[in-house]
Amino acid sequence: MLSLFLSIIFCLQANQPAQIDGQFSIDEARDRLYSLHQANQQASQVRIEKVRDNVYSLYGANSNMGLIVGEDCLVLVDNQFERTVPAMMTAIKTVSDKPIRYIINTHQHSDHVGGNRVLAADAYGIIAHANTKAHIERGQARLEPERRGGLPNLLLGKQGDRTPASMSISLGNQDIQVEYFGPCHSDGDVAVLVPSAKVAILGDMLFLDQLHYIELATGGSCQGLIDVIGQLLTLLPYDTMVIPGHGQVCDMKELARHRTFLQTALHHARSNPDKTARELAESFDKEPWKDKEPAGRINAWTSFFNTVKGPQS
Ligand SMILES: [Zn+2]
Repeated sequence: MLSLFLSIIFCLQANQPAQIDGQFSIDEARDRLYSLHQANQQASQVRIEKVRDNVYSLYGANSNMGLIVGEDCLVLVDNQFERTVPAMMTAIKTVSDKPIRYIINTHQHSDHVGGNRVLAADAYGIIAHANTKAHIERGQARLEPERRGGLPNLLLGKQGDRTPASMSISLGNQDIQVEYFGPCHSDGDVAVLVPSAKVAILGDMLFLDQLHYIELATGGSCQGLIDVIGQLLTLLPYDTMVIPGHGQVCDMKELARHRTFLQTALHHARSNPDKTARELAESFDKEPWKDKEPAGRINAWTSFFNTVKGPQS
């Protein structure tokens, strides 16, 4: 329960000063949730940029979305918070008036799926892995009934399943693929691939401007992330553009560099099995990885090494 609560708090993070400390109480977490909520209330601007062909990236309050313009409709990949939907829609209207018919949830965190409920009415379906649906449903059980809804209804895999699964959607002018490779950042993350445009929308399989949050409580692991990113590097053409869950659009070299970062951190943890997460954080050579910014206490270096050390790593 605590880990579920903390996972939801994480999703409301804004960039905060670095703190090397992985321990925090539930009260501190609640205080932090409130202050981050306040910060995000003020940050509801959404910027849209063309990535390539008919694929766009949307940058909002601390997380990214992807938009694919089909022949008759739009596909929206992730949708941030419910309160940022109006700003997101304003940005989308600058590139297309077509309706959003498919919503894809790359995973369950509320900074990626918080708009589901209000967007569901006009959509043919909300696509996600069955594990993601289960996590969203569990999170919504704590909410007032009027704030529930917008659950994924077009599912990859079965709940508890961790074997690869995929789904194709034909948009008339192109096909898109939704791919589940296995557990990585959690146990339900999917990648959205647009082969004709050579664009990959990866959700939280990729954090570029802050330390990578990996959620052990929902089946994530550092090794899983390394493996899944490795599959993407093998599968995708070298000139693919990548929309990460956090940070700017990047190329495949940056994706490969991020995998090297995760491998280096995992190697450091495995080479020093007796060190605590704090000791691992203090002794890790951070010099080559200055762009991997800690983002608050939950996403600090010690917390990161706690997850790298995790039971499934
Ligand atoms: Zn996430």
